[in-house]
Amino acid sequence: MTDLAFINGKIVTVDKKFSIAQAVVIKGDKIGAVGTNEDIKPYAGTGTEVIDLKGRTMLPGINDAHIHAALYGGTRPPLTLDVGYPAVKSIGDIVKAVEEKAKTAKPGEWIRGMGWDEGYLEECVKDPARYPTRHDLDAVSPDNPVMLGHYTQHEVWVNSRAMEAAGITRDTPTPEGGVIVRDPATGEPTGVFSEFPAQALVMKVVPSWNKEEKRQGIEAMIREMNSLGITSITEGALGSGGDEFQGGLFGSECIGIYSDLLNEGKLTLRVGWLYLFGEYGACTFEDFREIIPQLGIRTGFGNEWLRVAGVKIFADGTPMTKTAWMHDDYPDGSGRGSLVIPGNSDEERRNELIKMICFAHKYGFQVGVHAIGGLAIEATIDGFLRAEKEDPQGLRHYVLHSDFISDKYIKIAGKHGFGLGVQPILKWTFSDSMDKLVGIELSTRQFPLRRMLDAGVHLAAGSDAPVVYPSWQAGIQAAVLRESKATGTVRGPDQRITVAEAIRMYTIEGAWQDHAEQYKGSIEPGKLADLCILDRDILNVEPHEIKDIKTVMTVAGGNIVYDAGEIK
Ligand SMILES: [Zn+2]
Repeated sequence: MTDLAFINGKIVTVDKKFSIAQAVVIKGDKIGAVGTNEDIKPYAGTGTEVIDLKGRTMLPGINDAHIHAALYGGTRPPLTLDVGYPAVKSIGDIVKAVEEKAKTAKPGEWIRGMGWDEGYLEECVKDPARYPTRHDLDAVSPDNPVMLGHYTQHEVWVNSRAMEAAGITRDTPTPEGGVIVRDPATGEPTGVFSEFPAQALVMKVVPSWNKEEKRQGIEAMIREMNSLGITSITEGALGSGGDEFQGGLFGSECIGIYSDLLNEGKLTLRVGWLYLFGEYGACTFEDFREIIPQLGIRTGFGNEWLRVAGVKIFADGTPMTKTAWMHDDYPDGSGRGSLVIPGNSDEERRNELIKMICFAHKYGFQVGVHAIGGLAIEATIDGFLRAEKEDPQGLRHYVLHSDFISDKYIKIAGKHGFGLGVQPILKWTFSDSMDKLVGIELSTRQFPLRRMLDAGVHLAAGSDAPVVYPSWQAGIQAAVLRESKATGTVRGPDQRITVAEAIRMYTIEGAWQDHAEQYKGSIEPGKLADLCILDRDILNVEPHEIKDIKTVMTVAGGNIVYDAGEIK
């Protein structure tokens, strides 16, 4: 490994004072010195490779604090065809892509694709009555079942061979909550299935990926993360609870694959994971009692590349499906959601959740809880309070999605050192639909970042990919502008934060969440040499341009793991 020195740069160190330096030198896998070109000279040996940044901006390596990274890898090439815009622009293009794939596929092998959007398909734009059907795909893939996911993940488009494999005919009844799109003249299913209950009719026969395929997807994902400047992630859910769904990409085998890559020296992304237990991830107190005591390990087990982050609990659902447990009823009158934990009443479910948090805490696990609705967040934080009160360990438990947290609980989180996970990129992407789902008042106060920071809360930002593309740049822009992607509508301008504050959420605060701020998350002597170099000055560009900033080089553990070829 050659030592590297970067000179003539704008080094955004993200130290306590948010100092800007000119140069940095790396010694082995750590930062050796930071300062002016002159300052670092004594630290650069004869073998040091000097890279002239010519004024470019450097940030610490980006930390995506909540992502389903293995799953994301499975939704992208080489495992899954990219049938989204701009990779394809018409149904014809998609048919061609499937035809190509079918040529090399074994008989009966499933062909999967992801990302189609009729708003960008030529035929559908020309004729709004035209929608994709199985007949489009049948001729080019008679022997291979095909399943193509809509970009919203709320719909799948399959061919006749896939319907046959799933035993779906014109007589298949439409399941509650789902839609089987049918030809109005004949009643025959057209091959499009909307919403989860209908999609599940097909999904249940799609095989899980085998180990080799999972590894291919994970390796491609790691390359992609590095190319974005990302050097650390927290896998939001991996473990036995994920073996049976999402193609096994939430499953235990993925932990083993990360471990193999580490042993082979191929892991260039620092990975922590939250354990997922229970059948289909719906874990209960019984699952915890059965599994956790026999694990014999706890939060922090592993090393700087691969470590146990904690355990995951799904407390409630999402506002999209009206299953997040809110303070008030949804505007459409569909109730206020509830916890998804077993129990016969809100009170029983709440107590069960608190019991689970306290149990995992007792065994030394940090707990990351999927809670989105205000009431779900309160029950969760009450659990954190109880656990730390009975047995103080400072485990930094956190709420994964603190969308609709009340002011009272923001203050509690700040005072007691509980983390709040935020996904500003989700606000950007779904802001307009959130207006409709929860009403403008609540949509305006979704992710109240300013109030959270003012209360001294630790905010770690993530993307929740593959729900959206893991662009931290778009996340920073969203936190700074609070505009929606589709219409530019601003919601909650008083909750805007500065670019510097947003950068912290994607670097040092993600490290804090992992109990790792002593050794990563900023460019300071002695810390791990994780950094990325950008093509523009993120602190001074017009804020609407932040989302377009590109990473030109990424260094992880002192090694160049991505190089766009622009600076050397
Ligand atoms: Zn998630």
